[in-house]
Amino acid sequence: MPWHKCANSALLLLMLLSAPCRGGAPDTDPLLQAAWQDLQVLAADQMAGRATGTTGSQAARDYLHQRFAALQLQPVGADFFQPFTFAQGFSERQGVNVLGLRRGCTYPDYFIVVTAHYDHLKPRGNKIFNGADDNASGVAGLLYLAAQTLAQCPAYSYLFLATDAEELGLDGAKAFLAAPPVPRAQLLLNLNLDMISRGEQNQRLYLAGKKYLPQLSNFAAQATTSLKLTLAHDGRQSRLGRSSNAAVDWANASDHAVFRRAGLPFLYFGVDVHPQYHTPQDDWQRIDLAYFRAALQLIEQSRRWADALPLSELQAAQRSSAN
Ligand SMILES: [Zn+2]
Repeated sequence: MPWHKCANSALLLLMLLSAPCRGGAPDTDPLLQAAWQDLQVLAADQMAGRATGTTGSQAARDYLHQRFAALQLQPVGADFFQPFTFAQGFSERQGVNVLGLRRGCTYPDYFIVVTAHYDHLKPRGNKIFNGADDNASGVAGLLYLAAQTLAQCPAYSYLFLATDAEELGLDGAKAFLAAPPVPRAQLLLNLNLDMISRGEQNQRLYLAGKKYLPQLSNFAAQATTSLKLTLAHDGRQSRLGRSSNAAVDWANASDHAVFRRAGLPFLYFGVDVHPQYHTPQDDWQRIDLAYFRAALQLIEQSRRWADALPLSELQAAQRSSAN
């Protein structure tokens, strides 16, 4: 990737204030360019893996605060931070979700919740687990969608929720749904992004959720993309992709599982498990930039598609998911 040559992890925070990287093929879309920069910043060594309760996690939140403000998201409550406690073994731990609101123009009282977990794993010895694909990529995707909704007012309102403590047991998503900031009946849909930047050989991007939102088949049929968009089977284990040794339980793979259990329809985008999954080698230098860009564009297509669904249809999906 020619782009990689001009980005030095020690300088990534400075890049925020300076001109975008100019090496390699120019990306003329400033929102895609910003997403690539977001991914690199969140996966830099300074964030040390963004593990829950660490200074790296705090650094990631500081960055998200700055990005949410720049994207003109509104806080829900006093600020963008939603602290919560959760149990781990016999001890009580603290986590902090980051939440921002974009008010919709047609159905402002109904909400699509975009989620991506920003936490990853603690360093072990001197080994940092940067979690570039898992899940700096998804958080960069969340910011990209937030930017798109700034450029054009969406029909529905959006809650952009960067969750903490996903890796420890989906605890940030659980805390959000235990005390949602708006009445639960006004939450229509979850759009969850977790690992969206590496297609490997097969260039596949999985989309789960059609069990509760059968219309997803229509979206998959009409989507314009160079990627192999594959509808994953919800709720059962499937062995998919050559690189994965383990079965993937798509319905429970990430934060959307909490929304599903709470009776909400969801769209989940993610790649297959790859050899660097949960290793210190999940670095931004291994990201497939062309794939990441194509994934972002496809995910934004899905957001626009969902945003154009009539309220009655989303409410019907919500009712049938709850049963
Ligand atoms: Zn993850």
